[in-house]
Amino acid sequence: FLPHLVASLERVDQTYIMVKPDGVQRGLVGEIISRFEKKGFKLTGLKLFQCTKDLAEEHYKDLKGKSFFPGLIEYITSGPVVCMAWEGVGVVASARKLIGVTNPLEAEPGTIRGDLSIQKGRNVIHGSDSPESGKREVALWFKEGEVVEWEPALAPWLIE
Ligand code: GDP
Ligand code: MG
Repeated sequence: FLPHLVASLERVDQTYIMVKPDGVQRGLVGEIISRFEKKGFKLTGLKLFQCTKDLAEEHYKDLKGKSFFPGLIEYITSGPVVCMAWEGVGVVASARKLIGVTNPLEAEPGTIRGDLSIQKGRNVIHGSDSPESGKREVALWFKEGEVVEWEPALAPWLIE
């Protein structure tokens, strides 16, 4: 019983989801949060935040050197973003599916990018690409105490 419980606890991942400045300016915050909320994952962090250039560059450090990097940093720091941490088994890959591929013109209808955006440089939302990135990004964007551990009352109706 105990090893099984420990194994199942270990599978709980976290992902960093962010409504980018275009999503905030266009009034899509509620719509985007709502899609994750309805899916059933657990929200553990949420804030409106003005990102600095340093933080944006650290977050996207793997893309440094790309031609679009300066424009990306300008875009991400151009206005407030909404930072979220979500938790659950399989949350990272599932969130990427809800979000859709990077290019909104190729993103499937029904996905956030597919429904709500048209260009890579204005694709309204970020989502971590692996459980390791999820951990790293939640720690990067949230301070100690901003991520909350809680037990949703609906958990037994979502997780058997
Ligand atoms: P994501 O994981 O789907 O967000 O995509 P990436 O990690 O590859 O890129 C990070 C972000 O950089 C994307 O969400 C886009 O906003 C931006 N980006 C990526 N590729 C391009 C590009 O070719 N042109 C522009 N303008 N922006 C891009
Ligand atoms: Mg990425």
